[in-house]
Amino acid sequence: MGTKERYSEIAAEVVAACERAGRAPEEVTVVAVSKTVGPDEVANAIAGGARNFGENRPDQLMLKADQFTDATWHFIGNIQSRRIRDIVGRATLVHSLFEERHARKIDEVARERGIVQDVLLEVNVSGEESKSGLAPADVRAMLQTCAELPNVRVRGLMTMAPLGDMEAARAAFYGLRELRDELQADFPGLTELSMGMTDDWPIAIEEGATIVRIGRAIFQQ
Ligand SMILES: *Cc1c(COP(=O)(O)O)cnc(C)c1O
Repeated sequence: MGTKERYSEIAAEVVAACERAGRAPEEVTVVAVSKTVGPDEVANAIAGGARNFGENRPDQLMLKADQFTDATWHFIGNIQSRRIRDIVGRATLVHSLFEERHARKIDEVARERGIVQDVLLEVNVSGEESKSGLAPADVRAMLQTCAELPNVRVRGLMTMAPLGDMEAARAAFYGLRELRDELQADFPGLTELSMGMTDDWPIAIEEGATIVRIGRAIFQQ
C-alpha cells in the first residue's frame, strides 16, 4: 500500500469511528502530518483525498505550503519568535500557541499583513514535564490576553496525550474537552479540539476531537 491508499483507508476509518461514536463525520478534520516526508508524498496523499496537512518546522511549512497552495496547512510545532513571520498567513491554523509573547508577535505580524490568524492554545492536560503547553488553570488568563489582540483569533484547544497508555490518553482528551466546555460560556469561539495521533485517534474521536493529527499511519511505509 502506498500513501494514497493509506490516506484513503484512514479517512474511511475516521468516518466509521465517527459513526460508532454517534458523531457526524463532517465534524472531524483529518490533518495529515507530513513532517517526515517530502513533497512527492504530499502529492500522493492529495491523490488519496487529503486536503489538510500539518508541519512542525517553519522551513518545511514554507516549502510545502508554497508548493501546494490548494491544500490547507496547519502549524503544529514549537513556535520560535524569529520564525513567526514564516508561519503567519501560511498556516491557516496554528495549533501550538501557549506563550503570551508569541501571541503578541503573531498579532503584530498578522496586523501588518491585514489578516486575522486563527490559533489553538496548546494545553498540557496530563501535566507531564516533558510536554509543552499551558497548565489548564492558566488557559483562561491566556484567552483574556488573546481577546485583546484583534488579529489573533483563538478557535479552540490542542493537546498531546501521554504516549503508550490508552487510559491516560483518554483522560487527557476528556480533560481537554471538559476544560473547553467550561470556558465556552465566556469564550464562545472555542469550537475546535485538536487531539489524537496515530496511536490514539479513535479514542480522541470518542472524546470529542474535531481535528485529529495523523502522521505515521499515513506516511510511514
Ligand atoms: C508528529 C506529530 C503528530 C503526528 O504523530 P503520529 O504519531 O505520527 O501520528 C501529531 N501532532 C504533533 C504535534 C506532532 O508533532
